[in-house]
Formats: sequence, C-alpha cells, structure tokens
Amino acid sequence: MDLGILRLATVSDGTGMDNPHALQRDLGKIKRLERVVSRRQKGSANRKKAVRQLARAHLRVANVRKNALHQITSRLARTKSVVVLEDLNVSGMLKNHHLAQAIADVGFYEFRRQMEYKGRWYGSQILLAPRFYPSTKRCSCCGNIKAELELGERVYTCEVCGLTIDRDLNAALNLEQLTTGSSPERYACGENGRPGYQAVLVEAGTEHQSASG
Ligand SMILES: [Zn+2]
Repeated sequence: MDLGILRLATVSDGTGMDNPHALQRDLGKIKRLERVVSRRQKGSANRKKAVRQLARAHLRVANVRKNALHQITSRLARTKSVVVLEDLNVSGMLKNHHLAQAIADVGFYEFRRQMEYKGRWYGSQILLAPRFYPSTKRCSCCGNIKAELELGERVYTCEVCGLTIDRDLNAALNLEQLTTGSSPERYACGENGRPGYQAVLVEAGTEHQSASG
C-alpha cells in the first residue's frame, strides 16, 4: 500500500482512503487561533482562553487523523496476509518545508506504528520496501523507471509500454510486487516486470532503529 499526501492510503487491490476533509478545515482554524494567541498580551485572561482553544483544536486534528488511520490499519491487518509499506525517510522529507505540513498530516510514523502492532495481533506480515525502491517512478507493468515525475502528475503514463494508471495505484502495485506471493500475470507485461529489490520483514522492536536513521 502507498501512503500519500492527497490521498491518505491507496491499496494495490484498488481500494483506498481519502484524507478526512475535517483535517483541512481544522488546520485553517489552528492557523487562525495561533495568530490570535500571538496578538494577546502575555499573562492576560484572554490569552489563556485563546491558548485553551488552540489546544482543543490541536487535539481534535490529532483525533480525526488517528481515527482515520485506525480504520485503515485494522482493515488491512485483518484482511491481508502481507502488507508492504514504503520505508520513508521522513526526517529528510521534513526539511522540504513545502511538504512538511502535508506529510506530518498523513502521519506516516503513526501509520507504521499501528500497522506493526496490528500485524502482530492479526498475523499479517508487515514488509518494508528498500529505502531507494522507486515505487513512484517505476512502471508497475513493464518495470521501466521514469527519470522525472512531477508531484502534480496524478496519472502515471509509461512511455515504454503505454500503461496509463492512477499515480498512487501504480506505486501501490509496485510495492505489492516486492512480495513473492503476488501474481505477475496480473500486471507484468514483460520479462522486466519483476523488480530487482527485496522487501524487509519488520520484526518487533526494529522500528525504533530505522525510524531514527
Ligand atoms: Zn511500462
């Protein structure tokens, strides 16, 4: 499955989940409340009130996000024997301020944390793609890797085999192909269909190691 910015999650079986709209709305509210707090005099009753409102808005955003993530991680852990996730270098991505907000929203760490413990509960194997596996730029049909794919390009079009597919679904299919159980005839249109990469099984306790790296 592919975790996204515009869409929360895309699963290689074609299902997925959008980001909750409430999140965007609440983020606007948070920005407004932050400005209110900064305008109020320190130590004043009005400032304390604004700080309380801001804290409530933050809590609401966190709850909305967590709830959406719980829905999808529970469904995946219950229904899939294997789930392949990207091993995202989130700390590196957060340096790009343009994306920082959006990526923080999606809650990559939270997603992976939930997926790992629910995987253990329900007996679903959680695999991580290698850090440099080009799941976004690779064609899930012929294996060709694009040199460039702009963030705004929502449709992946392969100039080699002609595949035209939703960008996130293409990424999810590429991740699925890292499992030995995936059937190549479903999507591979040539001998290069198999990726030359190996997914890594997430063992209990290893998440902290890779999360800090
Ligand atoms: Zn192709």
